[in-house]
Amino acid sequence: MIQRIPGVRGAQAYLHRSAEGIAVIDPGYTGSFRAVLHFLDEHAPGPIDWVILTHHHIDHAGAALALCQATGARLAVHRDDAPYLRSGRPRDRMTLWGLAERLPARLASYVISTAVGESRLLDDGDVIAGLTVVHGPGHTPGSICLYSESESALFLGDVLNNERGIRTPPWNVNHWHRRARLAPRRLEGLRFEQAHFGHGPSILTGADQGIRAFLTRRGLLPAPVMGQP
Ligand SMILES: [Zn+2]
Ligand SMILES: [Zn+2]
Repeated sequence: MIQRIPGVRGAQAYLHRSAEGIAVIDPGYTGSFRAVLHFLDEHAPGPIDWVILTHHHIDHAGAALALCQATGARLAVHRDDAPYLRSGRPRDRMTLWGLAERLPARLASYVISTAVGESRLLDDGDVIAGLTVVHGPGHTPGSICLYSESESALFLGDVLNNERGIRTPPWNVNHWHRRARLAPRRLEGLRFEQAHFGHGPSILTGADQGIRAFLTRRGLLPAPVMGQP
């Protein structure tokens, strides 16, 4: 089951429940953890196992530490974004219009190991709580999508947004803009009905076709040959 968590500032937060575990994906901007906790109190069937971040940007990750501490959930993030959630994090391309420069001290001193348990560093192809990691670097080095086979759904983080139609993030928020534009090619072989974005409305049917059409328009996939399926 997938639910969007209301009242979260910044990026959109989701609750994903599967037989393999319960996860909150991207709990949102700093301070949003109370909204997440309130939602979990009412809707989660039990304690959450994981807080999974699609990438380190503060509008997705800001509430992660507080939420892990409040719930006992462990944190999971791709290993290439983990350095940005540690003290002494790299200063290169900390974009997001400079917002990421202003990480609160408590989050900046995060955290790959927290009081509540070891965090997990993710790699492409890993499966966590029923979600398969699809690494698509560019927006950040460790940007990932999370594929839910059981729900036929894909969580895109900021690999693609749906704010004014499907698109890649603008150049000024990307770590490597060219790679960010190419990253969605990683999604080509996946089949999924639903797409849930960090920003913009979800697509609930035929989402893989919509994303495929976007990739074709962008010239990232060969155009289909007429007369072939
Ligand atoms: Zn974002
Ligand atoms: Zn981002």
